[in-house]
Amino acid sequence: MKKCVVILLLLLLPLSGCAVQNEPARAECFAMDTFISMQAYGKNAEAALSRCTQELTRLERLLSISSAEGDIGRVNAANGEPVALSAQTAALLGTALAVSAETDGAFDPTVYPLVSLWGFYGDEPRVPSQAALDEARASVDWRKVSLAGGVVTLPAGAKLDFGGIAKGYAGDALKAVLREENVTSAWLSLGGNVAVLGEKPDGSAWRIGIRDPLDESAVIGSVEARDVSIVTAGGYQRNFTQDGKTYHHIIDPKTGLPAESGLLSVTVIAPDGARADALSTALFVMGTQRALALWRSDRSFAAIFVESNGDILYTENAAFSPSNISKSKMAKFVE
Ligand code: AMP
Ligand code: MG
Repeated sequence: MKKCVVILLLLLLPLSGCAVQNEPARAECFAMDTFISMQAYGKNAEAALSRCTQELTRLERLLSISSAEGDIGRVNAANGEPVALSAQTAALLGTALAVSAETDGAFDPTVYPLVSLWGFYGDEPRVPSQAALDEARASVDWRKVSLAGGVVTLPAGAKLDFGGIAKGYAGDALKAVLREENVTSAWLSLGGNVAVLGEKPDGSAWRIGIRDPLDESAVIGSVEARDVSIVTAGGYQRNFTQDGKTYHHIIDPKTGLPAESGLLSVTVIAPDGARADALSTALFVMGTQRALALWRSDRSFAAIFVESNGDILYTENAAFSPSNISKSKMAKFVE
């Protein structure tokens, strides 16, 4: 009898110990035009998340187009004059331009004049005239951005928009704050961006559901993730309808029009959240075939594509498990 009690106690102790440790600290806020939700584990988690909330306020000011005193606000008011950037913004612009180069401009951080013309910064998006599109397109060209020694110079009339990369970057910056605070396990969700730090406290991988672009309450499957960002770009995230046609917020810089590449969404998984975010936008513009050609030449990221007809394709390194519904459609593994 005594033996049983001891064994029972031994069994219960680690379980109850785990239960305390398994309760995450949580924080939620609205920043960067997005609802943000954070969960962190460990004894310092609460203080760490409160620092994360402050970091989000700082990043919003630094990178938003609507903050006149931030880096992007100052660049966009410079009208051809050089602007000294913070080291962080300079590094992020470097990442943005690297993705522009590798995607042949499908991701272009100078897309501001086009996004503005379509009205996606304000409350009244609308279809612009062809003449206005042609004029705006002439000011969009990542190759004309000069970045040297932390100083950026754009041609007069050109402006930056970090909407396609800032949230992914914010995930990286928050993970850095958490690490500084000795947090080793956390889950962060910023709009279509999820960033995970380490693994779950029980040592298993995080399991991140990938939204069905056709049904906001459904998932197409889930990804097993450790220390990566999982970023989805989709036409469903922001759009408007005019004369019966729907126009979304991801612009093909070559045409000036919302990208029509046969995709409903693209998810990119990579250790660097800023790169994953920029790549997700770029791959959405490029379409599956060009995107897969890039993946085959590189493989430093993984991707999941949902095509217009609902078909799903995923790269062999995606650690993706299609849901039962997806399996009954077509979920195709790409090598
Ligand atoms: P995401 O949701 O990450 O795909 O980013 C979309 C946002 O990035 C848009 O709201 C625009 O602010 C900006 N954007 C749109 N098209 C592009 C593009 N081709 N390259 C870079 N940024 C873009
Ligand atoms: Mg993006």
